[in-house]
Amino acid sequence: MCSSDLDASWSGLPQVHGIETDKLLDIIRQVRKIDTNDKEIKFVPNFADNEISAYYHDPNFLSKQYSGKCLFPWKGMIIYPNGDMIACPNYKVGNITNDTFDQIWNGQDYKRLRVNLKKRGAFPMCTKCCWFYYHSII
Ligand code: SF4
Repeated sequence: MCSSDLDASWSGLPQVHGIETDKLLDIIRQVRKIDTNDKEIKFVPNFADNEISAYYHDPNFLSKQYSGKCLFPWKGMIIYPNGDMIACPNYKVGNITNDTFDQIWNGQDYKRLRVNLKKRGAFPMCTKCCWFYYHSII
């Protein structure tokens, strides 16, 4: 089912509670020390140590390392095995078994999302979405 009302359909991402950020930070520090030869271990998001607690405990936290604007809806889309095409988490814009990729990519629901995102810069849920940290522009 494609939504015709972005705000009403926006259930957002679940908040993660109960994360022991001190323990998490210990683990991250241990991973950073691993000798990977010439391989790179990437952290997404790649927060400074003092930002990790804020990320999990402050819903409005936005790292200064990221711009607050996500380009993912202009660059990509997720296609699930059942054909559902997802622009953002929980925002289905179509199903590839019903319409062509181009119809969905240029369809009303996807265009509405981009217009809203351009207007707002980001949605409240964006700072908790991994794609924000892959596709955020500075
Ligand atoms: S960061 Fe926001 S705009 Fe980007 S993919 Fe996630 S929910 Fe969508």
